[in-house]
Amino acid sequence: MADRQEEKLEYLPEEAVFRRNAFILITTMVDLSNQTPQDTSMLVEEVLHTLFFLGVINCPPFSPQSLLDDDDEILDYLKKEYPLPFQLYLTQLPRMSPFSCLLDMVVSLYGQENEDQIKDKLKKIVDKMKKDPTSNKKEESSKKKKERKPKIFFSSTICISRINISSSCIYYGVSMSTKGRPAGEILVASSCFSFWHRLVSDAVMTYYPDKQKKSYFSRNIKIPTDIKCEAFNISEGRPMDPCTSCSDLFGLDTNECRRWAHGSCAEVESLSNLFKGEQHVMEGLGPDENEQEGRLRAEKRVLKHLKKQLKIFKDFNWDGRFYPNLNPNTN
Ligand SMILES: [Zn+2]
Repeated sequence: MADRQEEKLEYLPEEAVFRRNAFILITTMVDLSNQTPQDTSMLVEEVLHTLFFLGVINCPPFSPQSLLDDDDEILDYLKKEYPLPFQLYLTQLPRMSPFSCLLDMVVSLYGQENEDQIKDKLKKIVDKMKKDPTSNKKEESSKKKKERKPKIFFSSTICISRINISSSCIYYGVSMSTKGRPAGEILVASSCFSFWHRLVSDAVMTYYPDKQKKSYFSRNIKIPTDIKCEAFNISEGRPMDPCTSCSDLFGLDTNECRRWAHGSCAEVESLSNLFKGEQHVMEGLGPDENEQEGRLRAEKRVLKHLKKQLKIFKDFNWDGRFYPNLNPNTN
């Protein structure tokens, strides 16, 4: 199905990539879901919802129809099989970015212990999404093509975390895959409230959205030395040092000088998954009762920033919940 998209290119390059990559993700998710032994339809619904949401807040906005190549047959099929995202994308916030949904699907397909297969599959999908949709136009210079390479909806980094002594349990995470600043900031706030493990949300909220540590809330952590947390470039396979923001959040050693927005890196998702799976690991680092007041204040600050970002988008009217129908996770 995805190949047909490349024939229709009446849009500007960035818009064409936006639609093309959304289409690749949707069709890939439906295909992979049909191959998993367990029911993974929830993940297909989740990717549809997050892509529809990102479509509606894009400039120019894209409707679900438009992201589906204006193909009525596919639209009708998806509406019938996965009705919920169509009903909720204009009122509820997604919990995670599209490529994180894909990661969960690929892990479900191969099993979490099959690290090489998971990395290989993600690389293949990223390579497809990286492809320049205008590459068949001979008249374009390679310089111009390079300038036009927007990174939309695919992650560049995967992080793999495990506890040294029990290497069988592997927890994955990918970097945030959206397009543009408001979308990335909205997704970080949304993940803090509804997706990440409490310890990770607290660490991120210590810095988000002001990029500096709050005077009234300090929940950055130092992960124990027996946790191995390694990141790799998905396309090239090379190891990557954590950025300085991740060093702030989790006390990770690094030689890297660059800094990405707190919460947008693969380490965040991977460690959140590890904490969810290995509850005992961070015992003693749980919520401090004395910090309840500071946490409420930090949550208020994050929520205020989130609402400010959402205000710009007139077609989206947030009902205060996260897809599907979840209230903010504030316990
Ligand atoms: Zn980072």
